[in-house]
Amino acid sequence: MILALAGGVGGAKLAAGLAAVLPPEELAIVVNTGDDFEHLGFAISPDIDTVTYTLAGIANPELGWGIAGESWAFMEQLGRMGGETWFRLGDRDLATHVERTRRLRGGESLTTVTAALASAHGIAHRIVPMADDPAPTIVDTDEGRLAFQDYFVRRQCAPRVKALQLAPDVGPSAAFSALIDDPALEAVVICPSNPWLSVDPILALRGVRSRLRARGVAIVAISPIIGGKAVKGPAAKIMAELGVPVSSAGVAAHYGDFIDGLVIDVTDREEAINGPQLLVTETLMRSPDDRARLASEVIGWVRQWN
Ligand code: GDP
Ligand code: CA
Repeated sequence: MILALAGGVGGAKLAAGLAAVLPPEELAIVVNTGDDFEHLGFAISPDIDTVTYTLAGIANPELGWGIAGESWAFMEQLGRMGGETWFRLGDRDLATHVERTRRLRGGESLTTVTAALASAHGIAHRIVPMADDPAPTIVDTDEGRLAFQDYFVRRQCAPRVKALQLAPDVGPSAAFSALIDDPALEAVVICPSNPWLSVDPILALRGVRSRLRARGVAIVAISPIIGGKAVKGPAAKIMAELGVPVSSAGVAAHYGDFIDGLVIDVTDREEAINGPQLLVTETLMRSPDDRARLASEVIGWVRQWN
């Protein structure tokens, strides 16, 4: 069983590739919930939704979040009444938040709700929230401490990041914890998600880093940085603001000896990277074929390790 750790858009693309080439019992995808928040009375889990919509084949390719073919009647009407429209919720997407919130209020865990919604979308692979308890990421910036979505969406990542404050002392969900202990665990694959915003919140949960290392299985990451740039989102900007080299070497240094291997793009083949073993291949995923091909290569690589 391959345990994939994922955030939103970059994570979802590789997760979809892994799901295309592995049967459900051989893959579990643990997803960041550090971005989750309550908005307009709804429980919103952006990265879980991106992974779910991507695996279901209904993700919006233009926006990189939400559902394809979305309509915006709800937002338009809300705006007409002077309501809050900075966080955009499409009509179809809204149904997800309504249903998630209804189930959580009825006493179901985020793990149970996430599994039910994935199953309703015809997804057979396991999508598991990193935590059932709230574990909100706070972004410490030159404009003060910002709740994650205030930084990411309301302020469009404009403030300079000084540090990330990850939820102190929240444990992994019971489902994630069971996956860490699963005798079938073969390897951990850290998807090309933002290391600071999407992966660190997962690794920072109580006991996760040390328990994963103690399993003695291969732990590999795919670099989200290609040619000194992020494919999407603020990873490169944040690395520069934190004084980290904006490169796969910077990603390798950040993960340090937690990882055994790093997958980097052919563009960066000349880069001097200390520490992890390297797999050099094309890591830009433009199509479903790209995702499946990269996933196959990564699986082949980690399996020859054990
Ligand atoms: P978010 O939660 O939606 O912000 O998404 P993630 O943290 O999962 O992914 C964001 C990261 O994915 C960015 O740093 C991008 O550089 C990276 N990314 C997106 N698409 C690709 C891709 O096709 N290949 C690689 N290597 N990285 C990608
Ligand atoms: Ca995210």
